[in-house]
Amino acid sequence: MSIQTLVEQATIASSPFETDSFNQVVMSTYARFPIALERGAGCRVWDTQGREYLDFVAGIATCTLGHAHPAFVEAVTRQIQKLHHVSNLYYIPEQGELANWIVQHSCADRVFFCNSGAEANEAAIKLVRKYAHTVLQIEKPIILTARDSFHGRTLATITATAQPKYQKNFEPLMPGFHYVPYNDIGAVETAISELDEGDYRVAAILIEPLQGEGGVRPGDLAYFQKLRQICNETGVLLIFDEVQVGMGRSGKLWGYECLGVEPDIFTSAKGLGGGIPIGAMMCKSFCDVFQPGEHASTFGGNPFACGVALTVCQTLERENILQNVQDRGEQLRDGLRAIAAKYPNHITEVRGWGLINGLVLNPDTQLTAAEVVKAAIDEGLLLVPAGPKVLRFVPPLIVTQAEVEQALQAVDKAMASVTKE
Ligand SMILES: *Cc1c(COP(=O)(O)O)cnc(C)c1O
Repeated sequence: MSIQTLVEQATIASSPFETDSFNQVVMSTYARFPIALERGAGCRVWDTQGREYLDFVAGIATCTLGHAHPAFVEAVTRQIQKLHHVSNLYYIPEQGELANWIVQHSCADRVFFCNSGAEANEAAIKLVRKYAHTVLQIEKPIILTARDSFHGRTLATITATAQPKYQKNFEPLMPGFHYVPYNDIGAVETAISELDEGDYRVAAILIEPLQGEGGVRPGDLAYFQKLRQICNETGVLLIFDEVQVGMGRSGKLWGYECLGVEPDIFTSAKGLGGGIPIGAMMCKSFCDVFQPGEHASTFGGNPFACGVALTVCQTLERENILQNVQDRGEQLRDGLRAIAAKYPNHITEVRGWGLINGLVLNPDTQLTAAEVVKAAIDEGLLLVPAGPKVLRFVPPLIVTQAEVEQALQAVDKAMASVTKE
């Protein structure tokens, strides 16, 4: 590369970010906020203009250890220098170690690795279908999923996602799914008994312990315990989508621990690699029916992703981060409740677990979550909506007491600015 080119590139990097030229070449699959982030440390990020933000989005519940955590940087550097990718045709020691960590720290016996949440759920759907065909003797297996759920953007997972806004114009959808309302046990009982005709039968229930994208809606304890009981009695498999709530975000390592029930199969992704792409599907040994060649992923479980994810897992443990998630979560909810009390006409509820929390806006007013997010950005705080009426708070799990306090003050100011006459 010539000196001239290097100088030109340096000039481009330091000039204001050009959103117009970005939009000309990148598909507009996201409605982007007009800032470009280029650097991070801990729970803080800086944009291309040098402006600092407190990051309560964390790449959407993904950067478990925040940005540039020393253990994370060390793991990335070490692994990339040693070996970053080889095929699953060979044994990958880092993959075995990560699987071992997950098995030792969960109810699972086996792990399959892939690259994203949607892919992990696809793997679960395929596993269930094969189990239904070969063990349950169901010709046309049906998977129940919950309304307002979110399971990903592939064709099977938008079908599993029981929200029309994700499905519109992408029909025909995948057969074999049926929707029930969340936290409604009667609807599950009815579906299982009524969907038993000819070759069709319910084979599994795929559900989030806490609905993330659907509005930070925690699962009901009694509902989930009854679900487990129904599955035990009928042989229907219970699958938990832990892509957002798993990996410590709930204050427990796995969301199902908040509900006191174990799934047969569960999936993880977002927080698992602390921000590098990795997904995983876990199951108990009785339903592990995959044989060589039946399911695969080229990148899935490579040495880089697994080596880094293992460090994220070990750091969670070593730094006692789950305790921080519980303490900071309580602090955050207490503070948000105090803010809610100041704006009773605009805020109806504060809900969540650990460090996944939602501030619910009044459905009867015009105020949207996106408007509050914009106002919060002006106050130096990054937030993400969960649906049109819920503000979501998903900071890195290492967030400090002072940072939670600072975020609360920014939310208060943002609410003041969007509600003033
Ligand atoms: C984000 C998310 C997914 C999809 O994960 P991707 O990595 O974007 O494919 C699936 N399920 C839940 C609960 C999620 O929050």
